[in-house]
Amino acid sequence: MKKILVAGAGLAGCTAARLLAEQGHQLTIYEAREHIGGNIYDEKQPSGITRQVYGPHIFHTRQQEIWQFVTRFTKMRPFQHRVLSYTQGQLYPFPINRDTICQLYGISLANDEVPAFLEKEVKKAQFDLPAKNFRDAIVSQVGEYLYHCFFENYTAKQWQRDPSELSAEVAGRIPVRANRDDRYFTDRYQGIPLPGYTAMCEKMLDHPQIEVCCKRPYKKGDEQDFDLLIYTGRLDDFFDRDEGELSYRSVHFDFQTLDEKEYQPAAVVNYPNDYDFTRITEFKHMTGEHSSQTEICLEYPSAEGVPCYVVLNRENLALRERYQAKAKALEHAEKVIFLGRLAEYKYYNMDQVIARAMEVCAQI
Ligand code: UDP
Repeated sequence: MKKILVAGAGLAGCTAARLLAEQGHQLTIYEAREHIGGNIYDEKQPSGITRQVYGPHIFHTRQQEIWQFVTRFTKMRPFQHRVLSYTQGQLYPFPINRDTICQLYGISLANDEVPAFLEKEVKKAQFDLPAKNFRDAIVSQVGEYLYHCFFENYTAKQWQRDPSELSAEVAGRIPVRANRDDRYFTDRYQGIPLPGYTAMCEKMLDHPQIEVCCKRPYKKGDEQDFDLLIYTGRLDDFFDRDEGELSYRSVHFDFQTLDEKEYQPAAVVNYPNDYDFTRITEFKHMTGEHSSQTEICLEYPSAEGVPCYVVLNRENLALRERYQAKAKALEHAEKVIFLGRLAEYKYYNMDQVIARAMEVCAQI
């Protein structure tokens, strides 16, 4: 039985703490914020609708084991996420599918005609293969016009960088479909925790061997009283940024309660080319909550604020490698484990965080 300190009560910390407590270890969690859940924290508003305080989170996974794990702690509301994108004065299904193409070009295509259509668009375009950056990864699939309508400006807004500076890995998150499937994700298991993500995390932490201290930021040396530290904060912070600063992107969330039943026809509408915000989320579509009012959230990407995203460009990837070498040495000494989006500097989805936590906890 080990005494283990977990720095951070986000999804990585909650999952690791629970798994390790169930292995018989004694867990203490230090969380800097006044709430648990990290960026999946949500709270119900007087309108009766739950806001996801750090932006929209849709749980999706292909892995039954991960679905079984989360559904131990929450009932899930089945939810298939559908996103619309506002471009050229109209709403289009996004990611790009057959209907997006037909609507944008004013043509009609069968599924099996879509690849040839895209091939013609791609032939007209300039790009390098194999694609080494976001722009080329998209343009090599759909050509320059679709790239311009849906990706170019959204990506520049979101990352405050030219899309050709970003890793092709970011483009890999967004599929292109020849059929009419307009779901954002096609994973077998998808849903939103019925009582919310915060309630799910509370249940995970509800274990006699887990103690949670909120408003208690982890400080260097706290681990001295413990056998092991699981660190889920910023990777560069752990090393006092001595190799240089990794970029993490944040978002300014503009929440609004509106006296109308429905604001928009989908949970999320993206605005690639208009306005300074990237997207608007209307939460009631996701949560299924009923109210005469509605809760929306506009997202303004920002360099300042709570870290939400890692920035996968050449500079940060090189820096990550240097920090990871240091992290590996500490992990090798079995003193610290680096876990989660911030600490591993990876653009993880929620299920990937849980998968990683399962993997590292199985090794302890
Ligand atoms: N993206 C885009 N246009 C869109 C949606 C996404 O160009 O309408 C790009 C953008 O660079 C974004 C990335 O694809 O950051 C990943 O999108 P995803 O929806 O996975 O972002 P998240 O939900 O993680 O913010």
